[in-house]
Amino acid sequence: MKKTVSFSKHACNVFFHILTSCNLSCAHCYINRQQHGDQTLPLATIETWLRVFANKNKVANVIFLGGEPTLHPDLSKAIRAARAMGFNSITVDTNGYLFHDILERIDPAQIDFFSFSLDGATPGTNDRIRGQGSFEACTAGIRRAVKAGFNTSLIYTVSATNLHELPKMPALLTTLGIDRFFIQVIGLRGKSACGARDNAQVAAPDWLKIIPQVAAAAAQRGIVTTYPKVFLAPQDPFECAGLVADNYFIFPNGRVYRCPLCEDFPLHSLAFEEDQLKTTAAINEADLFQLNIPEGCVMNRLVQPENIAYNPDGSPEYRVACCLLKEEIKS
Ligand code: SF4
Ligand code: SF4
Repeated sequence: MKKTVSFSKHACNVFFHILTSCNLSCAHCYINRQQHGDQTLPLATIETWLRVFANKNKVANVIFLGGEPTLHPDLSKAIRAARAMGFNSITVDTNGYLFHDILERIDPAQIDFFSFSLDGATPGTNDRIRGQGSFEACTAGIRRAVKAGFNTSLIYTVSATNLHELPKMPALLTTLGIDRFFIQVIGLRGKSACGARDNAQVAAPDWLKIIPQVAAAAAQRGIVTTYPKVFLAPQDPFECAGLVADNYFIFPNGRVYRCPLCEDFPLHSLAFEEDQLKTTAAINEADLFQLNIPEGCVMNRLVQPENIAYNPDGSPEYRVACCLLKEEIKS
């Protein structure tokens, strides 16, 4: 069964980068230290900022990110604090190295998912992107987490470098005992926005042919699979999550974005100042969300115009969906 996951204002999703440092240096890393600094947030600040969202009187979900969030010595305490504040779901996105004995410091009831990142079905492909030894480390981390009773998901960021191995992933997911699969598309953010990518973007025909097939194959194995819609069909409505959803992408220097495609620019519409969440002055991302263009997503048009093809009359061949619009498929 396939469905488009609709945007909702009834739930608030907090993507909380608690530090920017990492033990890896992936080719497509989205962290941009020039924009987001290199602080590691103290636990007290993490708790204070979390409370702002826990108190919004709606369903709140938090995803702890980095850098590598398990490098934070107080991650286990931050997870427990989020649970005590009543967050509906708590996820940690990790590269799998699982520092600070994180699996021993929390128990499965305190967290909904550990979400592991792997960008190849073999060490050769994965390690070319994520670094020598990272496939072994990540799959060992997954096995340890599954054995200890944690729910696990896996994120595969598709690029031209690893598209060919995506069809091998459903079998690997079953072997590893993964519960959910997230296929991501490489975005021009962080390192990939600074010239480090080499034609890493996947062409539309390849995306439309391969991704839904692999997602269906994973779903047939009982693994709930999510992938970005990317290209809208003529009958699909265009919606900007910045206007119709309630997402917050928080960085340790206090910047808070509503749109991840804006993260490489000082376009954040909110910021923590002395632990208060304040609106920033125009012009910022919120002004861009209002623009209505035939290509669909404004930020995509600005930062990755090569993704858009045009008809001879100048109209776009397809509209690009909001990067946060997902298809979910399960058996
Ligand atoms: S993509 Fe994630 S794991 Fe890789 S270098 Fe960046 S923060 Fe670290
Ligand atoms: S990716 Fe595009 S459509 Fe989505 S929130 Fe950002 S500007 Fe809006």
